[in-house]
Amino acid sequence: MTDGFVNFAEIEAAQAAIAGVVRQTFVNRSESLTVSVDLPIYLKLEHQQITGSFKLRGASNAIAQLTEAERARGVVGVSTGNHGRGLAYAARAAGVRCIICMSRLVPQAKIDGIKAQGAQVRIVGRSQDEAQEEVDRLVAEEGMTMIPPFDHRAIIAGQGTLGLELVEQVPDLDTVLVPLSGGGLICGVAAAVKAKKPEAKIVGISMERGAAMHACLQAGRPVAVEELPTLADSLGGGIGLDNRHTFAMTRALVDDVVLLDEGEIARAIRHAYWRERQIVEGSGAVGIGALLARKVTPVGPTVAILSGGNIDMEQHHRIVSGEDVDVTAEAA
Ligand SMILES: *Cc1c(COP(=O)(O)O)cnc(C)c1O
Repeated sequence: MTDGFVNFAEIEAAQAAIAGVVRQTFVNRSESLTVSVDLPIYLKLEHQQITGSFKLRGASNAIAQLTEAERARGVVGVSTGNHGRGLAYAARAAGVRCIICMSRLVPQAKIDGIKAQGAQVRIVGRSQDEAQEEVDRLVAEEGMTMIPPFDHRAIIAGQGTLGLELVEQVPDLDTVLVPLSGGGLICGVAAAVKAKKPEAKIVGISMERGAAMHACLQAGRPVAVEELPTLADSLGGGIGLDNRHTFAMTRALVDDVVLLDEGEIARAIRHAYWRERQIVEGSGAVGIGALLARKVTPVGPTVAILSGGNIDMEQHHRIVSGEDVDVTAEAA
């Protein structure tokens, strides 16, 4: 099972493998968005997943697939936050040692979140790529297993379990709005949903500032993209120039990709809070943002996946209080 796209059987196997660790999250019908768009709009409340994001699904599945020898030597990951948190939790649940490496761009709230799950944290470099070099060293010198955040069959299959839940929870779904970074979530969801409903449309939503997968799709191959500060900080980072799975799967299975500016992301966080009573991080709110900005025009029942809730609460407070929070100036 190393060639070709991640398939439905792998996703079903993942669902069985992670059932004891991961919770099935609720779907809410959004009255405000249903009125505003004039179509049934649903929200998949995955920000209420254990660890605050869907990343726990893929990480738990990857750990479930380790051999005894690999479990004994432990796992390492590089992460902008939510993958690290999910991996740390999944490792601890399985009794496996875990080291997480991350770049200095990662907000303090996310570092604290990972430490709270019991993992060791190492802060290295200014980009995900530099943190990756430390991971490579731990793999080479200590024989640990690297669990990547998206470009890995077990990760994609694990994220796909969210899609399995969706087709059960919203049987008449027409369109799914999926926050998009490296593509693990969207590829898993697309594979699961399209296996059951081939006519369904899958739309990726990224931010304008550093949308790696979008740039790669435009170029027709994986290209390097500069990582920039954005309110959607969990969507930062490249897809890897040696991308093996998610680029080809995204190209084949994803119907459209749209980009949001910072104001549209802030508006989505506000809407989630004041109209839906949900605390959602910028990356998790982009599906709402795309609907509010009319950047997607679905024709049938639509689900926006609220993929994560791990936002710094001071920043969240300022955003929902109407302050114009500009993280783009924090670059230097
Ligand atoms: C990781 C992440 C994404 C993007 O997932 P990919 O699999 O990298 O596309 C979206 N939202 C949140 C909250 C995330 O943590």
